[in-house]
Amino acid sequence: MSGGNDGERRQGGSPGPVLPCEEARIRLMEYLDGELAPAELPRLEDHLAVCVSCRREEMVYRRLEEVTKEMVDEEYPDVDIEVAWETIYRRMERGFGWLIMSVGFIVLLGYGAWQLLNQFFLDPTQPFLLKFGVGAAVAGAIVLLISIGREVSTKYRSERYREVQR
Ligand SMILES: [Zn+2]
Repeated sequence: MSGGNDGERRQGGSPGPVLPCEEARIRLMEYLDGELAPAELPRLEDHLAVCVSCRREEMVYRRLEEVTKEMVDEEYPDVDIEVAWETIYRRMERGFGWLIMSVGFIVLLGYGAWQLLNQFFLDPTQPFLLKFGVGAAVAGAIVLLISIGREVSTKYRSERYREVQR
């Protein structure tokens, strides 16, 4: 895109020759940084008007700027106090719910185990094999419960982690 048509390029009434690409790129960076001298702007605009590759460059940088801005906005979102409190409250509520439920289960399990021990295992009239079978089943159930509980809490934690990441 060189030569010819000088008249059209200088339609903006800018002084001096049309910028070479290398200089235009430098001016472009200055312009995007808001550091370009106002007097230089018409020459840059003239160059961009005729040079596709520099115009493409401008578009790329502008998009880059937009994306960077978006990322910064996401990193420091406007903190809505009400929403923040709502989130904190909801988390506390959930944590409290988990806590009470856990305590309830522990009490129930403890009570059940105590009853089982007193009324079944310590009952001399029950056959040993039956005690062994029930004991094994209960032990297995407890192991399964612990395993499931661990999986649930891991999932819960990773969900919270994802929430934080967002
Ligand atoms: Zn150019």
